Amino acid sequence: MTKYVYDFAEGNKGLKDLLGGKGGNLAEMANLGLPVPPGFTITTDACRAYLRTGKEPYGLADEIALHLERLERQAGRRLGDAGDPLLVSVRSGAKFSMPGMMETVLNVGLTDATLPGLAARAGDERFAWDSYRRLVQMFGKTVRGVPGEAFDRALDEAKALAGTGDDLGLGTDALRALVDRYKAIFREHTGDDFPQDARVQLEQAVRAVFGSWNAERAVLYRRQEHIPADLGTAVNVVTMVFGNLGPDSGTGVAFTRDPATGAPGVYGDYLANAQGEDVVAGIRNTVPLQELERIDKASYDELLAIMARLEAHYKDLCDIEFTIERGKLWMLQTRVGKRTAAAAFVIAAQLVDDGVIDLDEALTRVNGAQLAQLMFPAFDLSAGPRRIGSGIAASPGAAVGAAVFDAHRAAELAGTGTPVILVRRETNPDDLPGMIAAQGILTSRGGKTSHAAVVARGMGKTCVCGADTLDVDVHTGQFTVDGQVVREGDVISIDGSSGAVYLGEVPVQPSPVVRYFEGALSPGADQLVRAVDRILTHADKRRRLAVRANADTAEDAARARRFGAQGIGLCRTEHMFLGERRALVERLILARTAEQRDAALAELLPLQRADFTGLFREMAGLPVTVRLIDPPLHEFLPPLEDLAVRVARAEERGEDPGHDRELLDAVHRMHEENPMLGLRGVRLGLVVPGLFAMQVRAIAEAAARVPGACAEIMVPLVGAVQELEAVRAEAQGLLRELGVDARIGTMIEVPRAALTAGEIARAADFFSFGTNDLTQMGWGFSRDDVEGAFFTRYLELGIFGVSPFESIDRDGVGRLIRIAVAEGRAARPDLHIGVCGEHGGDPDSIRFFHDAGLDYVSCSPFRVPVARLEAGRSAVTATGSDTR
Ligand code: ADP
Ligand code: MG
Ligand code: MG
Repeated sequence: MTKYVYDFAEGNKGLKDLLGGKGGNLAEMANLGLPVPPGFTITTDACRAYLRTGKEPYGLADEIALHLERLERQAGRRLGDAGDPLLVSVRSGAKFSMPGMMETVLNVGLTDATLPGLAARAGDERFAWDSYRRLVQMFGKTVRGVPGEAFDRALDEAKALAGTGDDLGLGTDALRALVDRYKAIFREHTGDDFPQDARVQLEQAVRAVFGSWNAERAVLYRRQEHIPADLGTAVNVVTMVFGNLGPDSGTGVAFTRDPATGAPGVYGDYLANAQGEDVVAGIRNTVPLQELERIDKASYDELLAIMARLEAHYKDLCDIEFTIERGKLWMLQTRVGKRTAAAAFVIAAQLVDDGVIDLDEALTRVNGAQLAQLMFPAFDLSAGPRRIGSGIAASPGAAVGAAVFDAHRAAELAGTGTPVILVRRETNPDDLPGMIAAQGILTSRGGKTSHAAVVARGMGKTCVCGADTLDVDVHTGQFTVDGQVVREGDVISIDGSSGAVYLGEVPVQPSPVVRYFEGALSPGADQLVRAVDRILTHADKRRRLAVRANADTAEDAARARRFGAQGIGLCRTEHMFLGERRALVERLILARTAEQRDAALAELLPLQRADFTGLFREMAGLPVTVRLIDPPLHEFLPPLEDLAVRVARAEERGEDPGHDRELLDAVHRMHEENPMLGLRGVRLGLVVPGLFAMQVRAIAEAAARVPGACAEIMVPLVGAVQELEAVRAEAQGLLRELGVDARIGTMIEVPRAALTAGEIARAADFFSFGTNDLTQMGWGFSRDDVEGAFFTRYLELGIFGVSPFESIDRDGVGRLIRIAVAEGRAARPDLHIGVCGEHGGDPDSIRFFHDAGLDYVSCSPFRVPVARLEAGRSAVTATGSDTR
């Protein structure tokens, strides 16, 4: 039979799946011999069974009764006993911490009949009534859904009547009267009397905690944090200890070191004569933990010793909750504490210095998302800017601009050079032009999977969403928050890493980590930089994946090298055809004869050669993968509407539109319904004579000029080996003629290429997965259209947990990759394989590429350090470890 209940003595921190984080850690502390009030944990299995069937699983009630009896024997007190009643707390606790999302009820077991016993034993009648009013309120609110405001109002009235500002000013009589009022409120809202049977209270509280797993806010929180919806929560039943037993009692929270910076030294808050939830609720002002030394030195010293012991035991920063009952310290909770990205690095490095953990372990304590966060510029908050609200940190960055409430207006203003922040209640596909034009996006509704969040992340744009204290009125073009009105044009600053919204322009400061990579700060400059340097150096030592960068210019290449790139995995040659060179491409397109075409190509040749020469010089012998031109040629022509207008105007004026007319005809002729599936990539090379040859010649001539240059020629959009063979034959001829050695390989980005990789490998020295196209074509999604149009719905429906353009779809697209790797290598064991899509810089995807056995990832220069770190992490941990 399934065991549903564990005494603290039976559990440990390794059992979080079953006992939840709180339960596992309470057991761990109890078994360390720390002062934990006795208790037991009802498993997540029981919760899941309850949620599935709507009733307690068979045997649970008996098991709870058994463990309760044991608890009663240990405590020498019984639940519901009038003489000396046992009281317990009933506390939620899931595998992943979900702060404040679920329920806890304190003082369970207090009834009209047990109250005198509690008062007598404590020798304090006021305390007993204080505990009772807390129970009626918490039970009413969490178990029976009575609105909290009803109780709050009654409490305020009682305080007013007693002429006191805080709850400590309420005497015994006032509290007794308040309990009566609370009971009446309970009756009004539920139609029932407050339960006077202690066991019924316990039973109902347990059910309420089970049920709180599916409370709306818990569901939303899980969705945002990507916590699986089917884990369920455990329930902890813990003997009450009382922090509200007078001035020598109290309650507090503490961290074993500073969770913001990682600096050593305890941090915390303490509140005398109070019960735990008062600290969080901010009912009264807490004092810094250090004050406790003065109030109760013995407890303070004991607490510090316990915290040191917990840090040593968990080998990490811990946060704790404690209560002091008349000079006796009790530990009520601990866990490995959340921390900022900076603190994560600093703490990990410090623990290595202290000999507590080794560098491999340090690698598992940080992650790429944190490093990425540290590389964004941040607001300089030293001048104390006015924070007017906050929302969900949906897409990182620090953005400043004029608030604008309409997408078209935003695009218009941005067009005149004014930076704007697009502010909406929520966004929809019509807002896209404004989102593209804005520095950042701010919404008052929606979470991390809302339209605004998904699209902003896709564009790499700063976004704060769900800032629900903002009352946004798009019609009048303003928002109100706390009485402050912000109108169109008023400058605001939003922090996509913290979710903060500020009034006015907050100065932006470059990231010290980036300055270090750029060589502007020495690794010893500050403790954060030192920590990053240390851990990243170790990642480099451990990783099996090489890291390259996607770079098209010598400047990008130089930056990529400073960030640690070991080569260029993707140079997009089409980027070299922009600006004034566009005219040459137009000539190529409009050429009527072979001579005209060759003349245009001949003019492009030296320009391309110079580009490649710069890249090869910069990369000094590291491999540079140059992709032959990929996009459809008509992308280089002016937009149809512009041309049509120009031609029409000229004709109106009776002039000859000449060149514009030719261009317009070409645009019409070359129009494609689905350009991404049209005449592009290798197809272009096979259709436009001389185009690829010009590029190959430029690459070869450049390589010949730079001693040691390592050129790789990459053919895009290949679907069949015959395509590659045709290009390869021509290219090899040219290379031989010029006496240059270069590897020739292909992108794998069309599903057919992945499925015929064994054949394609015969003609390829290397593969590079183009995961953007592979995802587009694998799913049949047009990226530019789908993200804005329906991804939000798909995420809501759980069709995927994260956009497949953000993180590789392991099951589908990932399967294509695995097939191609296996069959490619089977045909050609020395096949070199990498990836150059944007997924190359995504932490989860990098782990997949490591597992799939790739040789390298290539990503944007800024992502190179993230990729180095994640590649190192992948090498030291078997599969996805939880760093949540
Ligand atoms: P959360 O997960 O929201 O922190 P908890 O279950 O930790 O909820 O409980 C809320 C508060 O009640 C905490 O401050 C805790 O210290 C306090 N508390 C819980 N159980 C007891 C107990 N047995 N005795 C005294 N205080 C308790
Ligand atoms: Mg807690
Ligand atoms: Mg592509």
